[in-house]
Amino acid sequence: MRSPIPDYLQEVLAACAPATGAVADYIPELAAADPDRLAICIATPDGAVYTAGDTDVEFTIQSMSKPFVYALAIADLGLKGVLAKVDVEPSGEAFNVISLEEESGRPENPMINAGAILTHSLVRGADDEERFERILEMFSKLAGRELSVDEEVFASEWSTTHRNLAMGHMLKAVGVMEADPVRVVRGYVRQCAIKVTCRDLAVMAATLAGGGVHPVSGERLLSREVTRQALSVMTTCGMYDAAGDWVTTVGIPAKSGVSGGILGALPGQVGLAVFSPRLDVHGHSVRGVEVFGRLSADMGLHMMDVA
Ligand code: GLN
Repeated sequence: MRSPIPDYLQEVLAACAPATGAVADYIPELAAADPDRLAICIATPDGAVYTAGDTDVEFTIQSMSKPFVYALAIADLGLKGVLAKVDVEPSGEAFNVISLEEESGRPENPMINAGAILTHSLVRGADDEERFERILEMFSKLAGRELSVDEEVFASEWSTTHRNLAMGHMLKAVGVMEADPVRVVRGYVRQCAIKVTCRDLAVMAATLAGGGVHPVSGERLLSREVTRQALSVMTTCGMYDAAGDWVTTVGIPAKSGVSGGILGALPGQVGLAVFSPRLDVHGHSVRGVEVFGRLSADMGLHMMDVA
């Protein structure tokens, strides 16, 4: 029998209000994005993928890379080792805020930039190249296809990323990060410039929803423990200073990126992704937030709903 889901996704797409907000331009190259793109994708842990709109258009993963690199760092170093360097407390502040915990010098969580920069430095690798290659390889496995870097977006952010460099230097200055801050920030910016599609993001999210098992290949890419940890910080910190609003209204562990994507993973159920580049004041996709709200309400996906 033909699934009713594709028709439903088309309806959601058609019902979306014209996008408001503006595309990110603090990374100059992101301002070149077509602001009116819209894509929705749903992937189930047993491998079904449903799409609507511009699902095969590539854009950079940006902050949606953070939970996956966090997962890789934990797999490499163990949870204790990572927690000693990056805490898991929601900061209630914007993604690019420069603040570290007073006593320990740890960034508050791995979803804000300071925490993500430090997390990047914890991924195993003989040198920067190997560390980055391991991240790219892991993302490719999660997406189920070979991914690559958008060199224009990378160069554009790298030449303007003074704020991230300031954070890198601060992490080094307080002694919480061992590696060279300039090299680490370069690697982090490169991690953010990996190209994905909305479909890739939904499949990656479905791996989290499936407890670490890839929905299509059936391969275990992350342990259950690591997956639980990543989903937990997505729930409390993934949407930054809008996390409380998001978790109460949408109720799906999620992560956004300034390229206009949002990915969400409901444990045991489904991976979701939306792409629409115009952003709100938090740096979240305006229509991404709208669509997630609709999908959650229509399909009963709020994690606190009692069946
Ligand atoms: N690369 C971006 C930055 O570091 C990622 C930010 C985001 O997507 N919220 O500023």
